[in-house]
Amino acid sequence: MSNIVAIVGRPNVGKSTLYNRLTETRKAIVDDFSGVTRDRHYGVSEWVGRSFTVIDTGGYVANSVDVFEAAIREQVIIAIEEATVILFMVDVTTGITDLDDEIATLLRKGKKPVFVVVNKLDNTNLLADSMVFYSLGLGELYNISSMTGSGTGELLDEVVKHFDDEPTEENQLPKYAIVGRPNVGKSSIINSLIGKERNIVTPIAGTTRDSIHIHYNQYGHDFMLIDTAGLRKKTKVKENIEFYSVMRTIKALEEADVVILMIDAVEGIESQDINIFHLAEKNKKGVVIVVNKWDLIEKNNKTIKVFEEQIRDKIAPFTDVPIVFTSVTEKQRVLKVIETANLVYQNKIRKIPTSKLNEIMLPIIEAYPPPSIKGKYVKIKYITQIAGTSPMFAFFCNLPQYVKEPYYRFIENKIRENFNFNGAPVQVWFRQK
Ligand code: GDP
Ligand code: GDP
Repeated sequence: MSNIVAIVGRPNVGKSTLYNRLTETRKAIVDDFSGVTRDRHYGVSEWVGRSFTVIDTGGYVANSVDVFEAAIREQVIIAIEEATVILFMVDVTTGITDLDDEIATLLRKGKKPVFVVVNKLDNTNLLADSMVFYSLGLGELYNISSMTGSGTGELLDEVVKHFDDEPTEENQLPKYAIVGRPNVGKSSIINSLIGKERNIVTPIAGTTRDSIHIHYNQYGHDFMLIDTAGLRKKTKVKENIEFYSVMRTIKALEEADVVILMIDAVEGIESQDINIFHLAEKNKKGVVIVVNKWDLIEKNNKTIKVFEEQIRDKIAPFTDVPIVFTSVTEKQRVLKVIETANLVYQNKIRKIPTSKLNEIMLPIIEAYPPPSIKGKYVKIKYITQIAGTSPMFAFFCNLPQYVKEPYYRFIENKIRENFNFNGAPVQVWFRQK
């Protein structure tokens, strides 16, 4: 499953204002912890319990006039191919421009659900001016104000109806996506894994038109690999290479159970890698970090330790993640990557018996209870793991609202210390009992 909402439209209609509104709380969390640069144009959002990725297309275009319109047209085409739902944003204060018309023409030809979002309706006096957008020929209008948020709820109620949350794949094998910046070695590792054995490897048409799913079934392993490297789209506009690869990465990531994030040992971990890492984390995916081209690094007995520490520093506070050092060209530890992804998958689906959970966690809580607030004490009575596709734990107590963020972290760390959830997301909830 993969739910991507792309916001398209010409400059200044309010795309990034809406994008920020949809993603802001989570973005604030990520940025606080890691100092990630703010120039990200994709992020996770949630509406009525459905999570999805929002992508603000405008962010990928350079501000030079001659490439501008061509780039926007091309992005609309990519969005039609890759997104689940398209929000076509227009501006009530300007009416329909030529570029709006061109975009509408492209969208009418595409087969994806399109929502015409008429923005900047800050007050109802402007409603009459909105009518003109019916002439775009894309159906219903969604009047909103990105600035105040009015109308966005009604819009999202309709948008989520187009989501596909059920896995459509006929087989329920674990899915591992290999992602990373261009040139890190994604194609090489896939070739090295399947190259000589192509006869026992069946490429299966993906759930989505052109993502490549490879069924890997040898040496006792049985899983699906999702390849983002195999397909390289020719784009006329240079800026859109990144846009396209981001779209592909998000899609693969959303479909995967475990994300194998490849990094170039020479270049180290960069902000783009950290963004992908956080996206995986926010999407509750398992993660394996692979540092490839290890052959190019001059090593002594401390090098691995130093590298690991640098990476963990940058991905803090989510550091309980396996890191594998590979050289695909020298065939070093390639299978270790797969074995590690399997372990992470096992950790992700691990269920801890309730008795064991309480036996271990209750004494820890007794020794370090949540700090009292205004003389009130939080009493935690018992703990259960909630059923789901990743580890979630409910701590039943009298006053859940008094449990603050640092205590959540403390509890998560204690769970990780006592049970093996390496590479897997862990969620902790305090609930009223
Ligand atoms: P983008 O280029 O499409 O991403 O547009 P921006 O989000 O950067 O917005 C362009 C301008 O329109 C900014 O000055 C915003 O403050 C303004 N804007 C965005 N949404 C609204 C809105 O709902 N009402 C009003 N009045 N202004 C808005
Ligand atoms: P992709 O863009 O991520 O798919 O990267 P490729 O698999 O196309 O690899 C990019 C380049 O890096 C190619 O020239 C590979 O031969 C080279 N490469 C891949 N893995 C390694 C490695 O472990 N060591 C070295 N030295 N080069 C590698």
